[in-house]
Amino acid sequence: MNNLPLLGKKAIVTSGPTYEPIDPVRFIGNRSSGKQGHAIAVELKNKGADVTLVTGPTGLNDPEGMKVIHIQSAKEMLNACEEAFPADILVCAAAVSDWGVDNPAHHKIKKDVDNPEAITITLTPNPDILKMLAHSDNRPKIVVGFAAETDDVIENAKLKLQRKGCDFIVANDVAEGTNTFGGDNNTVHIVDKDSVQSLSEMSKADVAKDLVQRIIERSS
Ligand code: C5P
Repeated sequence: MNNLPLLGKKAIVTSGPTYEPIDPVRFIGNRSSGKQGHAIAVELKNKGADVTLVTGPTGLNDPEGMKVIHIQSAKEMLNACEEAFPADILVCAAAVSDWGVDNPAHHKIKKDVDNPEAITITLTPNPDILKMLAHSDNRPKIVVGFAAETDDVIENAKLKLQRKGCDFIVANDVAEGTNTFGGDNNTVHIVDKDSVQSLSEMSKADVAKDLVQRIIERSS
């Protein structure tokens, strides 16, 4: 049996949150821990792939045996992915902020201590990294996206598969009461154009193993 079926394949994985700067000290972020994306990067490497991990700020150590690029904002994440292109496999597991701050301040925004007032921050849509790269001229052979949904999880994942141009969508339920963000376990549905595989709750490392096995089957 071939232990390194992805030898010779290049993979790019995005992971973690993005931080969208408001000024040099403040940002808009989200609760992504990066655990699932990092676990997928490790599993791809374990199967022989040459992995570039593009990650937002997380509390995780950099996995060994791969190139790790640290970014903050969605725009930086897109640039890093474009620089790492081309690739055979793209897994976008990052929780990318849908909006970035228009014209972030270069100095800390001060409040008027005697008369604090409301301020307005204008948010503009960020580039959709997954959608752009999945529709690019040198599209990777396998493109995987994630969908965190609170309602109609599978229906929304099927729509996302088409809209974003993915081969697989890994959908998870992040409704109130679930513990996906930051937890070590995940309960996912892996959706492709023909099927939906609902996996039972398992560690994020095991989700990564299952997903990478499907990537291997599809890429040979
Ligand atoms: O549209 P939505 O944010 O639900 O899509 C989630 C998927 O799209 C994830 O795979 C995420 O990494 C990717 N995404 C992206 N760039 C964005 C927004 C989402 O790559 N600006």
